[in-house]
Amino acid sequence: MAKIQMTTPLVEMDGDEMTRIIWQMIKDVLICPYVDLKTEYYDLGLVHRNETDDKVTFDSAEATKKYGVAVKCATITPNAARMPEYNLKEMWKSPNGTIRAILDGTVFRTPIIVKGINPFIPTWTKPITIARHAYGDIYKNTELQVQTGAKAEILVTNPDGTTSKELIHDFSDGAGIVQGVHNTDKSISAFARTCFNYALDTKQDLWFATKDTISKKYDHHFKDIFADMFEAEYKEKFEAAGIEYFYTLIDDVVARVIRGQGGYIWACKNYDGDVMSDMVATAYGSLGMMSSVLVSPDGIYEYEAAHGTVQRHYYKHLKGERTSTNSVATIYAWSGALRKRGELDNIPELMEFADKLEAAVIKTIESGIMTGDLYTLSSLEDKKSVSTEEFLDAVKANI
Ligand code: NAP
Ligand code: MG
Repeated sequence: MAKIQMTTPLVEMDGDEMTRIIWQMIKDVLICPYVDLKTEYYDLGLVHRNETDDKVTFDSAEATKKYGVAVKCATITPNAARMPEYNLKEMWKSPNGTIRAILDGTVFRTPIIVKGINPFIPTWTKPITIARHAYGDIYKNTELQVQTGAKAEILVTNPDGTTSKELIHDFSDGAGIVQGVHNTDKSISAFARTCFNYALDTKQDLWFATKDTISKKYDHHFKDIFADMFEAEYKEKFEAAGIEYFYTLIDDVVARVIRGQGGYIWACKNYDGDVMSDMVATAYGSLGMMSSVLVSPDGIYEYEAAHGTVQRHYYKHLKGERTSTNSVATIYAWSGALRKRGELDNIPELMEFADKLEAAVIKTIESGIMTGDLYTLSSLEDKKSVSTEEFLDAVKANI
């Protein structure tokens, strides 16, 4: 077979630990035999981030802006324990945070569904994609403890020097706490735009919810920005695509999600997304089956797995022990990126290859061949737990 040719390179961001091992295996076993892979390679492994004073992370994000599509391996976000382990000059920031800030993107996380791995909610037969607004609210708050007799007020100084002041609470009856939070029209609009575009891109309904009945200015403003943008720019496109934008209250949406089937994008405010993405991920089964894509408002895509570097498995691997690490979400990061590249460059064979790669993964697991994490969850009678390498070979046999 002649290899599938690419025209524009993918931005390839290599990473750390067990996922770095899997990264190379996926390329060697599942991609390079079929695709004449063109990438612009950035080594975001912690060793090289430290050598370049983290410049490589910034460069990789800039390259992503230039080419439009990236695929990223999981990376270590250093903590105190990593300082001596990697002899670090500094406790470098999370690469995902850096890249997200540069691309101003929203993260969409989608579970990969296979027969035999049953979600804890039996009605969930289709994936629920969570989009989390990753700016502001309590994540950029200012808070204080206040004493008895204190009076807390909110004060805004306008550009013309005038002020607006509102009482928060009079603490004459006892001590307490206060908190100030904010968001910006720019960030909320970018979030809304990315969600509308992603819904069109993936032909799924978009759900959004806040607590606007209680928070009549703050949460209501989110609702209004979404509604105005939808009316002005997306209503007709959604109709043409046969999809819906649905707004409701956060508690109503939670009830609907639990009794529904899935198959939509659930846009969440920052805190809701933090909490609900963990709930949804857990309910669908394994972290190894959760894919993730960072999308910018201007249509730049960075694909990755939602899980981390699977450190414990890596230490086993270093000792020469057998590992059974799930590579599915990382394979889907590659297939997602290749499909998007094919779409943008009009290379149908590349898109078809991405579909076939994913179908081979599903077929492998549904035929009973899976890694240890899935083995413990699978309801299939005839199932077998295989090693990291054996799983990839089985997928290859199914391509
Ligand atoms: P993790 O790597 O996601 O692993 C947590 C545990 O989940 C693993 O120990 C393993 O459980 C299970 N697991 C996760 N992915 C799996 C897979 N593909 N196959 C099988 N089991 C899997 O999270 P962590 O241990 O909290 O973090 C490790 C490192 O990853 C940290 O340095 C962190 O900074 C980094 N991290 C990076 C990203 C990213 O780049 N996007 C995201 C999260 C964390 P068992 O050990 O019980 O088998
Ligand atoms: Mg969370």
